[in-house]
Amino acid sequence: HAKADGRRHERFFTVEMDEKMQARHALEADLRAAVQNEEFELHYQPLYDLAQHRICGFEALIRWNHPVRGRVSPMEFIPLAEEVGLVVDIGRWVLRQACNDAAQWPEDIKIAVNVSAIQFSSSDLPKDVGEALAGAELSPSRLELEITESVLMENRDEALPILHALKERGIRISMDDFGTGYSSLSYLSSFPFDKIKIDKSFVNDIVANKEAHAIMRAIILLGDALGMRVTVEGVETAEQMALLEREACGEIQGYYISPPKPFGDVALMLCMPPKKNDSVAPFAKLRR
Ligand code: C2E
Ligand code: MG
Ligand code: MG
Ligand code: MG
Repeated sequence: HAKADGRRHERFFTVEMDEKMQARHALEADLRAAVQNEEFELHYQPLYDLAQHRICGFEALIRWNHPVRGRVSPMEFIPLAEEVGLVVDIGRWVLRQACNDAAQWPEDIKIAVNVSAIQFSSSDLPKDVGEALAGAELSPSRLELEITESVLMENRDEALPILHALKERGIRISMDDFGTGYSSLSYLSSFPFDKIKIDKSFVNDIVANKEAHAIMRAIILLGDALGMRVTVEGVETAEQMALLEREACGEIQGYYISPPKPFGDVALMLCMPPKKNDSVAPFAKLRR
């Protein structure tokens, strides 16, 4: 059987695939060096509280400034880093840097950090998180960890006690990219997330399309019913924000508020005037 597979493999192993593999190996080598050479940087995107009309936190998003290629997207290098095990080192760096940065912000501003499934299975996540918080003298209540459902899917029995340990220390857990996976709904009942982040793919049509609007409304109500905070990702227009405000959505994130920006811009973002919205009809405000 193995032999047959091998032969089939050979037959389809084209020049194009060979080139792709080599490009991947080169990227992997560069990624290893990047950890040493400090080529990573964190950018911060505001989380905007729709009831209070103010920034209530920031999500840390990693950036890789490659010496030759320039900026490489995390969508490209995080999956690779996961495959080759580098995501544990990178993740530790992200936790430390994000906590240190957040320690310089006002007390009521939270920091959200993305955590990969690999960090659950092949590292002591509570230890790494604890060290990052202690090193920065940051209160655990200011830290939110964003996980996708793949964390629970790939090693549910291992991941659950870890998540509980983190929660016991006062750290909040958010389910990221809600709605994009296979079993988001069943995971909601098996783990008490503090927050769900509705994936940006659900926002695109909410203003123009009745069905998309209805689905968004239903997910917000679902989060409310489960006592979870709801964040909608990928909000790009005033109209989308106004609709979400009418639906009493707790929090939004997206280019309309601000794209992710370097640490140096955080103070400026915190001084931004509130994004109040004239397109919100007065009756809608009364309904809330
Ligand atoms: P995510 O955690 O779902 O982060 C949100 C992504 O949406 C970010 O992409 C952000 O720049 C983008 N975004 C924000 N607002 C808008 C908008 O209004 N419109 C659109 N079209 N996009 C918007 P980014 O920074 O490229 O990151 C992509 C993904 O890479 C993240 O998705 C996350 O899964 C992963 N990632 C980023 N940083 C880290 C990290 O430090 N550790 C780990 N493990 N993963 C990370
Ligand atoms: Mg995220
Ligand atoms: Mg997301
Ligand atoms: Mg994502």
